[in-house]
Amino acid sequence: MIYLDNNATTQVAPEVLQEMLPFLQEQYGNPSSAYSFGKHAAKAVHTAREQVASLLRCDPSEVIFTSCGTESDNSAIQSALLLDPDRKHLVTSRVEHSAIIKHAEALARRGYEVTWLDVNSDGLIDLNDLERAIREDTAIVSLMWANNETGTLFPIEEAAEICRSKGTPFHTDAVQAVGKIDIDLRQIPINFLSLSGHKLHAPKGVAALYVSRKTKFSPYLIGGGQENKKRGGTENTASIVALGKAAELAAAALQEENSRVKNLRDRFEQELLETVSSVQVNGHRAYRLPNTSSLAIEGIDSEGMLMLLDQRGICCSAGSACTAGSLEPSHVLRAMGYSNERARGSLRFSFSRFNSEQEVGQALQIIPNAIEKLRAMNRGFLAA
Ligand code: PLP
Repeated sequence: MIYLDNNATTQVAPEVLQEMLPFLQEQYGNPSSAYSFGKHAAKAVHTAREQVASLLRCDPSEVIFTSCGTESDNSAIQSALLLDPDRKHLVTSRVEHSAIIKHAEALARRGYEVTWLDVNSDGLIDLNDLERAIREDTAIVSLMWANNETGTLFPIEEAAEICRSKGTPFHTDAVQAVGKIDIDLRQIPINFLSLSGHKLHAPKGVAALYVSRKTKFSPYLIGGGQENKKRGGTENTASIVALGKAAELAAAALQEENSRVKNLRDRFEQELLETVSSVQVNGHRAYRLPNTSSLAIEGIDSEGMLMLLDQRGICCSAGSACTAGSLEPSHVLRAMGYSNERARGSLRFSFSRFNSEQEVGQALQIIPNAIEKLRAMNRGFLAA
């Protein structure tokens, strides 16, 4: 199998698995217990918090462990709304992950007002639009750092600065950015940042929310006093340990992410553009994650292509999803102004440090043939 779908999820790094295993076996103490068996678990959670903080360059006290990126996203928004109940307005973009979009839509049904920022054909927002959208009663602005489908990077430093100057809390969904680009929270006035373990070679079901120490926070999960009273629920020690180790490895591999992984992506994309006709890149070519390539391929349907590639051992993602029996083109590609047809003919390939040159070479043998086959089938279908 050649796994080119690392924005969907990633393989658990072997070192991460090694680090977490003792906490699933003999070290099963509860971090809240007063005896040394529990304290050992608490110490491991503390180390993980330091490792995540070091990757983000923030203080460990600013890191809250959660169960998933979706929980981190939801918690940040809920906290801002709860602590400033007179503010009933939110700002976000049309290309966010459903963890933000569906939540904002649910809030709109409950009487909140949402301003949806448009993007241009590169997938970028206009900062003037952001400036204009923020009002006295804006409770929070939430913008993703990197888009999961196209890899396009929003100008988060500038967006955070605009929000700071207006006194509006700012959240960024950095689930796709953390571990792939350098992030230094000492330099940027961000109030909340979400990340998720399974996107950076930790297991699924563990994530974190950064809350700047200057930001008030109200817990989303109310219960015990865990996570400095910011998130109830017994800590998932093994997975938290795994996330800590994954963060440490990600910090060490950042250079590689921006050189070797980027080169793999660039070679793949360049060769495909040269060998296959009528292929275009979706999203900004430069303001982009180093690992992501979203391609619009004329004359194919992405669902059919996924099946063909699956038979040939390649995993990637489609620019459309099957919802209730019909093919829904990606909301991201539609928001960029692309036609339904272009969205339905789009595929996303996303790489990681576990991919090799050899795999890219093999993929470049298989994919052009599969495209030709599908194009011929579709032509035949149209002619019939
Ligand atoms: N935000 C973005 C940009 C994502 O890509 C994802 C996952 O695909 C999420 C949030 C949700 O993260 P999780 O799967 O950990 O809930």
